[in-house]
Amino acid sequence: MYYGFDMGGTKIELGVFDANLQRIWQKRVPTPRDDYRQLLTVLRDLTHEADAVCGTPGRVGIGIPGLPNEDGTLFTANVPAAMGQPLPRDLSALIGREVKVDNDANCFTLSEAWDEEFRHYPTVLGIILGTGVGGGFIVNGKVVSGRNFITGEFGHFRLPVDALEVLGRDIPRVACGCGHDGCIENYISGRGFEWMYAHFYQQQLPAQQIIAHYQVGEPQAVAHVERFLDVLAICLGNLLTIIDPHLVVIGGGLSNFAAIYQALPQRLPAHLLRVAKLPRIEKARYGDAGGVRGAAFLNLVESHK
Ligand SMILES: [Zn+2]
Repeated sequence: MYYGFDMGGTKIELGVFDANLQRIWQKRVPTPRDDYRQLLTVLRDLTHEADAVCGTPGRVGIGIPGLPNEDGTLFTANVPAAMGQPLPRDLSALIGREVKVDNDANCFTLSEAWDEEFRHYPTVLGIILGTGVGGGFIVNGKVVSGRNFITGEFGHFRLPVDALEVLGRDIPRVACGCGHDGCIENYISGRGFEWMYAHFYQQQLPAQQIIAHYQVGEPQAVAHVERFLDVLAICLGNLLTIIDPHLVVIGGGLSNFAAIYQALPQRLPAHLLRVAKLPRIEKARYGDAGGVRGAAFLNLVESHK
């Protein structure tokens, strides 16, 4: 059995998956925000509850909104109780088994990579176009974490020169939450989508409304979406040239925007090497359930493929 904890700022969800990777049990509880001992107790009790349901101890994985540090502590700004704490080691001692932890964007990508239809692909690139831009990279069913657990932090890629041709050389270098400015997440995220509209048309509109205007052919919204899709293709083209994945899975709020899946195959070739064949590009299939799935699958072994 595989237990996946999706530890968020407001709730912790546990999903239990059997050997066929089907979810057989789940439970959701509020996240203790500030009390680390309480957080450990909640995770321990959920694990024991799942053990009782399964009749056997399962393997434990946790997806966190943050990064594991080199010294075994966690960086989790949205879960203050876990911030700076050696949670994997402490929980492991409490439940008597190994605890694997990874970034929630990596878990999202891992969940998709193990989809029945996708798991034969050797390399999978996950991109989340949400409030920010994140993602992950999976090779042969395993997360590539890199030196600092930041593989897949594509949002902090610099705005490419080709994008300046589309946006204008005087496009502001928007200050990013990471401390730099001009990171692509400020342009191609859902927030960036709205920011660009406001920048070019001096009008603040929610993404949903801009998309609704686009769908009825309103010229300003159409021009905006065309510009956005051009920049998205340029940014993704750079990633494809570096990584050359077999499959790209797109998640986050903007992944529901169908125009992306028509536009990218048309626009990407201009930004790739001539020999490059396009990867398959798909919308993420698991939505919010991807967090627990991916966390559980941190413990999957190659023999499943
Ligand atoms: Zn940044």
